[in-house]
Amino acid sequence: MFIDSHCHINFPELAARMPEILGKMAENKVTHALCVSVDLPDFPQVLALAEQYPHIYASVGVHPDYEDTPEPSVEQLVQLADNPRIIAIGETGLDYYRLEGDLEWQRERFRTHIKASRITRKPLIIHTRSASADTIRIMQEEGAGTDQGGVAGVMHCFTESLEVARAAMAMGFYISFSGIVTFKSAKELQAVAMEVPLEQMLIETDSPYLAPMPHRGKMNEPGYVAHVAEYIAKLKGVSVEQVAQQTSDNFFKLFSFAKQA
Ligand SMILES: [Zn+2]
Ligand SMILES: [Zn+2]
Repeated sequence: MFIDSHCHINFPELAARMPEILGKMAENKVTHALCVSVDLPDFPQVLALAEQYPHIYASVGVHPDYEDTPEPSVEQLVQLADNPRIIAIGETGLDYYRLEGDLEWQRERFRTHIKASRITRKPLIIHTRSASADTIRIMQEEGAGTDQGGVAGVMHCFTESLEVARAAMAMGFYISFSGIVTFKSAKELQAVAMEVPLEQMLIETDSPYLAPMPHRGKMNEPGYVAHVAEYIAKLKGVSVEQVAQQTSDNFFKLFSFAKQA
């Protein structure tokens, strides 16, 4: 069994094809998926999916790329997370690639999510792009990691260096690889994946974006996470079953609020 630890199946292009999406998951032995929230206006649809389907989980959070959107408070996140179908806080983090200018609001929003994670004891889903130093610094300042009383979480769609991966793992964080790791050009990321122990690894699609090989360029969906696992198995010289089992075990260990269905 494979688990897609990060997808956006509430986005209209995927939500419109839900029976097909769920069928492809079953066909490819993708047993569970985590539908990740990106802003508060969309949150009801994310939660509705998790309430409708026992094998779909949900998170609550506001993505760093969403500038003109209601800003969440710690209290609001804590309140929205108080639901058995919500297993994580995020996605949150920093993105200096997509947006420019004074991004202090991004850093404040990130701190808000870490505080909510510490209060709810629900793990963080962290997005970081072109901002790894500030991301790690704020994680440390706010005590996101298990080393400082936090509950840690996952560095999702990881594309950073081994040094950044090690800093996150030292705080108890898992490293999640998406379809990017299967791309021919991703030599550096493949070298990082070689070094990240299977015990600290998750897999994801981040669908509808970033379809893995051999579907690159097409619309991505949770069923394709099997290709990420296959690639990592080949890279590490282990069986696909081993990657599937370990990353699924990791998922339930990290997201301890997720009841297996
Ligand atoms: Zn992201
Ligand atoms: Zn995402």
